[in-house]
Amino acid sequence: MIFVTGGAGFIGSNFVLDWLAQSDEPVVNFDKLTYAGNVNNLAALREDPRHLFVLGDICDGAHVASLLALHKPRAIVHFAAESHVDRSIHSPGAFITTNVNGTFSLLEAARAHWSGLPGAEKSAFRFLHVSTDEVYGTLGPHDAPFTETTTYAPNSPYSASKAASDHLVRSYHHTYGMPTLTTNCSNNYGPYHFPEKLIPLVITNARAGKALPIYGDGQQVRDWLYVSDHCAAIRAVLAGGRVGQVYNIGGWNEKANLDVVLALCDILDQLDPKQTGSYRAQISYVDDRPGHDRRYAVDARKLERELGWRPAETFETGIRKTVQWYLDNEAWVSDVQSGNYQNWVEQNYARRKPAAE
Ligand code: NAD
Repeated sequence: MIFVTGGAGFIGSNFVLDWLAQSDEPVVNFDKLTYAGNVNNLAALREDPRHLFVLGDICDGAHVASLLALHKPRAIVHFAAESHVDRSIHSPGAFITTNVNGTFSLLEAARAHWSGLPGAEKSAFRFLHVSTDEVYGTLGPHDAPFTETTTYAPNSPYSASKAASDHLVRSYHHTYGMPTLTTNCSNNYGPYHFPEKLIPLVITNARAGKALPIYGDGQQVRDWLYVSDHCAAIRAVLAGGRVGQVYNIGGWNEKANLDVVLALCDILDQLDPKQTGSYRAQISYVDDRPGHDRRYAVDARKLERELGWRPAETFETGIRKTVQWYLDNEAWVSDVQSGNYQNWVEQNYARRKPAAE
């Protein structure tokens, strides 16, 4: 049994789906269902006895502790977070609450659980913290990519809150000896990505005839990784990572935002049966985001050297799959856009909660 936090979000739901496609080990999926959590991502697991969804907040240490005592997971994989940089600029408070205080509460519950395990289970236990390359700050055009020893220099409230959580996780290993692992990954894309982030926003806006906003000059460079490659990397680190270590995860796919949008327009022009002209005509430049980092690039050689992980997708293959997924899943998109996906808690949870716990 593994305990996953944030498993109804973009990466967490992909991770849970991939995990249960490859293993019979059950998952307790603990998620607050903020605007970013969507149980429809997990529709394929609705009747699957290996998946137990529990509605809850990582800040509620007593709730987490009771679940850990009941289910006795051998590992915690921690995705739950506020994750959108723009939201962190306008409303940073929620980022401190969940990413910093929430991670602290989770660590405390995990420490109590881990301390009480018998010897062999105690040393086999893992707390895997999923984090971002944004903690390292920004790079100049000729700087070497971030390594695991790059100094932290977070520039947004989001990245600062993730940096704080990384430091807390590190301290639980150094102070208490808890078997932690931390992964710092570059920008993900793929199925179930909430359409406030660049790639799904461009796909959904393009098809809705809306503007495709480009911040500033569009020359901000990001490394892109297809989400199932991230999930595979997390599984590899969980299985074989050295405790207390940090592993960078990246796709060796540096792209300027403008180039990503142009590529999306061109692929949509080819694949979208509704398209007759060119989606490039909808591109519109808007004011840059305050404090916008110029470039992120990740050196993932440690992960490759120690655990043999390499991304299976290139940007070109991953982005085509992603566009096709959005074309094939219009019902998922319209459910998100209408807000219907958020009715699930009222419609289902009151009935399911006693059985779920
Ligand atoms: P997301 O915003 O799509 O999902 C976050 C999930 O966490 C949602 O299901 C939400 O309901 C849940 N959640 C939020 N607050 C919670 C709380 N207090 N208690 C319980 N659940 C809560 O995020 P994502 O893009 O899937 O990112 C997952 C993790 O990966 C985050 O920690 C993020 O920092 C990290 N990360 C993301 C990327 C990326 O490109 N998206 C890259 C590197 C690392």
